[in-house]
Amino acid sequence: MAEPAVARVLGAATLFGRLGLPDESADPGAVRQQYRKLALLVHPDKCTAQGAKEAFQALSEAFERLSSPAGQAAHLLEVARGRPAPAAGRGEAWGGARAEGAQARWWDTRTWEEFEERLRHRDRAEAALRRQFAGRVAARLAGRRLRGQVRAAERSVEHCDRGAGLAESGLWPPESRRAGREAEEEARAARERAERAGVLPGLEPELPNFDERPELDDPEAAMARLLDLVTHLRTVHLYCLHCGCRYDSPDDMARNCPGVTEEEHEGAAAVGMVTSEETALAPVGEGGGEAPGGDPLEAYMAEVDAALEREDSARRKRRRR
Ligand SMILES: [Zn+2]
Repeated sequence: MAEPAVARVLGAATLFGRLGLPDESADPGAVRQQYRKLALLVHPDKCTAQGAKEAFQALSEAFERLSSPAGQAAHLLEVARGRPAPAAGRGEAWGGARAEGAQARWWDTRTWEEFEERLRHRDRAEAALRRQFAGRVAARLAGRRLRGQVRAAERSVEHCDRGAGLAESGLWPPESRRAGREAEEEARAARERAERAGVLPGLEPELPNFDERPELDDPEAAMARLLDLVTHLRTVHLYCLHCGCRYDSPDDMARNCPGVTEEEHEGAAAVGMVTSEETALAPVGEGGGEAPGGDPLEAYMAEVDAALEREDSARRKRRRR
């Protein structure tokens, strides 16, 4: 029963194909439904067939990429250009390649139960982010906040991954990724080839731009990116971006972290959080590059840490779910 599923996932020509969907825009709910259905067939805890691990990885990468309309649109463009599906494990949605060494993503769990718990955590994170940003998606402020949070989350992922001895991944800031530099070289060469071949202007491969991050201008795409980052931080590292700390266990986090979004933390730790938008997050992502010693994010995190220490006893007593 499971083996045909493994073969189908690994043999699919596109990311849509891995999920058993036609190559066209799909309802995100349908994508999630297919993902869970097929995950049940190929998860290594459920399936002993050869290739199950690779199939589950390939399936999960397809889900992460196609779970947002922006990701679907980007992949459909790749399909149209004849670059359908990267090999499993090399298909980081954001241009990163799998480096040597250990890497963990939220779906890399030992048991099916743990996987399901993390998938539900991701669902809750998505709902919370949508609540925070929906209705304000058109506002410039929402876009700035999203950008700032994406940049802060990328840096936290790099920090936590490095601390845990995990290898570089596509969730790290592009400027921290060797793959990003290599991709730039590749894109430059491809662009030159395309121009020589007389491809219509505007259809040549685009060069990545680490400072402008045009892919974050689309609030939907930025939100999808933020969801991937937040899910990684919260499930793999038990780290909350807004609490600024790691928790001992998923249970500890569920009890003591007020939620996924910045807003859910505002009432909980009013000191330091309220001003984050104006003081700390806005400059992140603008200007680019590191500012040794004077990093506003570092200063902000230190401020948050101090505030949280003061709030800690009260916070632990609240026992929120
Ligand atoms: Zn928190």
